[in-house]
Parts: sequence; structure tokens; C-alpha cells
Amino acid sequence: MPEKVVIIGSGPAGWAAAIYAARAALNPLVFEGAVTEENRVAGTLPLGQLALTTEIENYPGFPAGDLERYLETSLGPDRRVMMPPHSKEGVSGPELMELMRQQAANFGARIITEDIVAVDFAAHPFKLTASDGNTYAALAVIVATGARANYLGLPSEERFKNRGVSACAVCDGALPRFRNKPLAVVGGGDSAVEEADYLSKFGSVVHMIHRRDQLRASKIMAKRAMDNPKIKVQWNRTLAEVLGNDKDGVTGVHLASTAGEPELVLDVSGVFLAIGHTPNTAFLKGKLELTPKGYVKWTTPFRTYTSVEGVFAAGDVGDDYYRQAITAAGSGCMAALDAERWLAAKGF
Ligand SMILES: Cc1cc2nc3c(=O)[nH]c(=O)nc-3n(C[C@H](O)[C@H](O)[C@H](O)COP(=O)(O)OP(=O)(O)OC[C@H]3O[C@@H](n4cnc5c(N)ncnc54)[C@H](O)[C@@H]3O)c2cc1C
Repeated sequence: MPEKVVIIGSGPAGWAAAIYAARAALNPLVFEGAVTEENRVAGTLPLGQLALTTEIENYPGFPAGDLERYLETSLGPDRRVMMPPHSKEGVSGPELMELMRQQAANFGARIITEDIVAVDFAAHPFKLTASDGNTYAALAVIVATGARANYLGLPSEERFKNRGVSACAVCDGALPRFRNKPLAVVGGGDSAVEEADYLSKFGSVVHMIHRRDQLRASKIMAKRAMDNPKIKVQWNRTLAEVLGNDKDGVTGVHLASTAGEPELVLDVSGVFLAIGHTPNTAFLKGKLELTPKGYVKWTTPFRTYTSVEGVFAAGDVGDDYYRQAITAAGSGCMAALDAERWLAAKGF
């Protein structure tokens, strides 16, 4: 018997879809991703991008407060023991994701800790192949495999992730560690300008580190950077190393020159990478219509439909614009409702 609905991915979009699909008696099967070294290095371990970060201050329903008792009573001890201890007020990324996963499991979502590595959407029921070699048939599929932020790959960048190095200004910019401090943004495109502009609300100065002598951003965005007195572009520079120590986290950046200038060290308390995202869609190439940047293309406004009828997409895998947990969860809900209605209309 084919599965009614298979959900691929384990970020907020996947779990929201699973909660809705389970409550609609669709008995969803979730592939949450495999625990492999390859996924660890890529930043695509189960539970998604939010599990890679510390405090979450902007997910509605989780104001500051001591969640410890709630975590103890809502998660099984087997999951609780794997998580970092609850150390601060409010909710952390891993805590929020474990709670979403548990909520889906409570309603009966079945979870397999493997990647989906191949799909066949040419015939119906659809065929999915998991990383352990098993194959599954599905009447409807929700793709919620997310995206990953690009990093430069410097060891120092890795060392200071969550201690001053971030890939999301909207997510982390308001944290106390960045308030009234000098900050750096790496990149020169529209999103780098957006990040720098946003961070200028909090930081004392924002250095944009750009390897060319001119921004890649559109004219209007480049003007926004130039007109902002708090943004200072460091032209023809690349990030050679993030400087810092265990106590304070990031304390500076060491910049190389692409124009033969001497090296430069700047004191900063935060480094924000704005060099793009990579959607997790490699296994979908040629199977679903993708955008030129590789995101799944939504074919109908305000719906989660894709180019294949019966296949729906939710979260960052189709969204290169908002990229937030709440928007991902919202579209996960939409995908489950779209799948439920599609299955009903088809008489499945
Ligand atoms: C450092 C950082 C901090 C952030 N902080 C915040 C914040 O404070 N607030 C906020 O709202 N947002 C924040 N975000 C953004 C937020 O994490 C994302 O918008 C959100 O997680 C997207 O959810 P998603 O469900 O689309 O997918 P993701 O979270 O990207 O998760 C998808 C997951 O699916 C799994 N998967 C991928 N491919 C496969 C496959 N082939 N088979 C099976 N499973 C697969 C992987 O585990 C993957 O990680 C942050 C992002 C980063 C990188």
C-alpha cells in the first residue's frame, strides 16, 4: 500500500506539515534526514537550520522564561539526554526543534532517520528511495528539505559560530552581544546590503567586506549602503580569519587584500556571512521545476503546488526571500492542507 503522504525534511516546515497531516488522519511518514558526517559538514543534520543556533527570540509563543520543566515533561528522556542543557531564559534552536518533532510524534507521525536520495515523480504513486536503499511509494509528497547558509569554510569561522559568527542578521542581530558594537558583513550583493542595513540599527558601525571595488548589489540597494552613515565598505578585501577567544567569542577580523594592499585587522564583535544559501534540492534536479538558483518553484500564488501535481513544497526549499522559522512553519501547514485537499479531490 502506498503511503498517503510522505514528508521529506525536518525543519519547522516539515514538522508543521507532519502535525497537520497527522491530525488530519493522513498517517504521515517523515524522512528527517540521516545522521552522517557528510550532513554534519553540510549543516543538514536532522532538525534543520534552527538546531544549529542558540537563542530564538522571534518565534511566537516562546517569550523569555525558564522552560526547563516544560522540556522535561514534554520530551522523552531519550531525546532530552541528547540535547544541550537548558542554560538560559527563553527557548534555544535545538529545544524548539525537539519540541516540534515531539508534537508531530505525539499525533502519530512516523519518523525515519534517513535521507531521501532519489525520487521518481514520473509515475503515480510516486517512488522515493532512501539512503539505506529502501524504496517507498507515496500518493502525495511534501518537500521540506530547506536550504543551508553558505560559509567560507574557514576553521576560525566554524570555531566562533554562535559566538559572534552568524549567517542571519534578522535572526541574531538584536542579540545583546551585538548591541552598540562594531560588526562586519561579508558579501556585496543585495542580501549583504540588506543584512548590513538591518545590523546598522544595532551595531555602532557595520563594515561590509567586499572582494571587488564595486558592490554586486542592484543600484538602489548599493545606494542604500552608501547613504547609510553607519555602513563602511571595505573594498577589495576578503575575510582571511575570524579573531577571538573562548571567553569573548569574536573580537575582530583579519582581512586580506585583493588589490595588493597590506593586510588589515578590524575590531568587531560580530561577523555575518551574506554570501548566499544553497537549497537542498540536488536529489530533485530534473524531477521538479526549480528556479535558476535551484529552489523548488511554487507554481501558483499562495499555494504550495509544484510543477508535479501531488508534490508540494514548504519552507526555505522554495523561499529564498523570507527564510524564517515562522514562515517555514506557516508554509508547512499550507502544504499539509493542500495535500489533504488534493488527496480528497482525487478520491484517495
Ligand atoms: C544560524 C542560523 C540562525 C537562525 N536563526 C533564526 C531565528 O532566530 N529565527 C528564525 O525564525 N529563523 C532563524 N533562522 C532561519 C531558520 O532556521 C530557517 O528559516 C528555517 O529553519 C527553515 O526551515 P525549513 O523547515 O524550511 O528547513 P530547514 O530548517 O533548512 O531544515 C530542513 C532539513 O531537512 C533535512 N533534509 C534535507 N534534505 C533532506 C533529504 N534529502 N532527505 C531527508 N531530509 C532532508 C535536513 O535535516 C535539513 O536540515 C536561522 C538560520 C540560521 C542558519
